[in-house]
Amino acid sequence: MSAPSRLRAAILIISETANKDPTTDKGIAALQEVFSRIAGDRWDANETRIVPDNAHDIQSSIKGWCDGTDPINLIATSGGTGFAQKDVTPEPSLMLGIRHAMLSTSLKVTPFAMMARPVAGVRNKTLIVTLPGSPKGAKENLEAILPQLAHACQQAAGADSRSLHVGGTQQLEREAGLKAQSTVQDTSKHQHHHHSHNRSHGHGHSGHTGPKAHTKPEDRSVSNDPNAGPTQRYRESPYPMLAVEEALKLIAEHTPDPTILRSAVNESIVGCVLAEDVTARESVPAFRASIVDGYAIVASNHPLVPSTKGLFPVTGISHAQAGEVAKLGTGEVARITTGAPLPPGATAVVMVEDTVLRSMTEDGKEEDEIEILTDAIKEGENVREVGSDVRAGDVVMRKGEGMTAVGGEFGLLASVGTQEISVYKQPVVGVLSTGDEIIPHDRSGDLKLGEVRDTNRPTLLTAVRGSGFEAVDLGIASDKPGALETALRDALRTVDIVITSGGVSMGELDLLKPTIERSLGGTIHFGRVSMKPGKPTTFATVPVKPNDSSDRKRKAIFSLPGNPASAVVTYQLFVLPALQKMAGFSPPWGLPKVKVVLEHEVRMDPKRAEYHRAVVEAKEDGLLYATSTGFQRSSRIGSFKGANALLCLPPRPGTLARGEKVDALLMGKIISAL
Ligand code: AMP
Ligand code: MG
Repeated sequence: MSAPSRLRAAILIISETANKDPTTDKGIAALQEVFSRIAGDRWDANETRIVPDNAHDIQSSIKGWCDGTDPINLIATSGGTGFAQKDVTPEPSLMLGIRHAMLSTSLKVTPFAMMARPVAGVRNKTLIVTLPGSPKGAKENLEAILPQLAHACQQAAGADSRSLHVGGTQQLEREAGLKAQSTVQDTSKHQHHHHSHNRSHGHGHSGHTGPKAHTKPEDRSVSNDPNAGPTQRYRESPYPMLAVEEALKLIAEHTPDPTILRSAVNESIVGCVLAEDVTARESVPAFRASIVDGYAIVASNHPLVPSTKGLFPVTGISHAQAGEVAKLGTGEVARITTGAPLPPGATAVVMVEDTVLRSMTEDGKEEDEIEILTDAIKEGENVREVGSDVRAGDVVMRKGEGMTAVGGEFGLLASVGTQEISVYKQPVVGVLSTGDEIIPHDRSGDLKLGEVRDTNRPTLLTAVRGSGFEAVDLGIASDKPGALETALRDALRTVDIVITSGGVSMGELDLLKPTIERSLGGTIHFGRVSMKPGKPTTFATVPVKPNDSSDRKRKAIFSLPGNPASAVVTYQLFVLPALQKMAGFSPPWGLPKVKVVLEHEVRMDPKRAEYHRAVVEAKEDGLLYATSTGFQRSSRIGSFKGANALLCLPPRPGTLARGEKVDALLMGKIISAL
């Protein structure tokens, strides 16, 4: 027998009134509408019953649906879950032995973590969920959980747990909304339970393989459903809390690879990384040039060639300019300027300081004869030979080397006549603020109650540009699901990577994660990091179809916390390495790390790694010293004023004493007291 492709649901309305007069019931229609609208291709919800509010009727209905040879996949009850005397649904569920906490991994129906108050459980192969009595409440609850129910029912029906758990324990935990460590041991226990469960049922129902999921667990969203309202949201983040190093690994893994661009050699390549080796087209110098102002002569180290000392006629002139230069004979000199080509035949240049003028032409304007005061001039003296700085054909720069703003690399390419090079394309970074309370920072007038001036956008735009990348201002998006989705879609079409701030905390208006996962079909690689500040930092990639070509590529979104100091810390720590990877820099990416000596005691956070803003100064003893910028609350952007480093404080109780050494990440120039 092939697996049934559709799932069957029964709706049980528990209501005295509706039982007496079924025409008053609106619950069945409301719930059937949800099934057909949200998942009509998966579900049949034709079985319905209305019972009065008593244990016996409820129990026998449920048993009837669960205990046959072809049990139904899901029973959704509505009503009887309040606090009235007759509200007994959870009770029979308990008596039937199916009241398991939704968070329990033993059931592996973990997506129901969102259902704080309703009861859900499994009897035999049927999943039972209890919805509120009001048709509206029942409908909203069902809408919130229905996308996850197919998976849960499949679990309940006893599908092969290995194929269901290809996402591993982390995935299960994510789906369950549990913290990473807490369930690791449990999982193996329950897998065992599931295997034996499968076996015992395998005998009774030969060939009944149960419905199959069409999506993989790791492809399903974990985020809140924004339509489900505040009562349905997670009360604790379902994303595993990662260590900073784990988050950085995921960034290194999932940030898109650099793309290559042909570029003219001009200022636009400053900050770029070379994507090819560059060979010198020409030698530097390209001709034999004088190093000094003086006189070109025919000098020789050979004993028979006359000395350079004595009187010489000035027979020619060579200036630093393009053009032919007359040949020079033995016993003659030619006046020559710094950088000018040596006359053919000349072998050395004597400095003007080692000569005196002896006679002039009749009009007094030109030199006639000079006297060289030394006989020590050697062959080749004061001459830059062809190719003595760079020889044509030599590799002057290697793939992976960067063009700094110091200028040396640009200068080198310029000097050897490189016209065009392959570089990695620098990412264009979009910066978006989010929040209905956020107003442009430069809006005139007083603030209304609740308004907050946009601090993050100007700060992050500055930080991105300060890191050497192009930044695009994407404005402020409001906390409406559609508005945020539109803003992100538009942004992803035009920029290479998006930085947002705000909307990643635990409030119902924190829409970044749901929008990325549910509306943009993105993958959240992490949504929580064990750090201070910056805990809710989120990194995702989203498939994007570019305007100019048909193949989809993935673009990265960093959703940084809304508090300004958190946004900047997490930019420096997480976004910068991603930008560097996209720009083709070689690892290790990120800010340079140095050891610094604490100028004063610093308190650590007992649990989370802390990135404490500080001023680092070089002192006479050759060491670097760090001073805190003061109050470190995540809302206080002033903690960044003057800061050139982030002290990396380990997660430990207590304090670090003055004089202790800690790691510091350098964001800006070191101050010097020397
Ligand atoms: P959220 O995560 O959106 O709840 O934001 C956390 C806190 O950061 C709230 O107090 C926000 O008002 C504040 N916040 C969010 N975005 C910005 C911004 N662009 N500038 C200043 N404060 C912000
Ligand atoms: Mg907000």
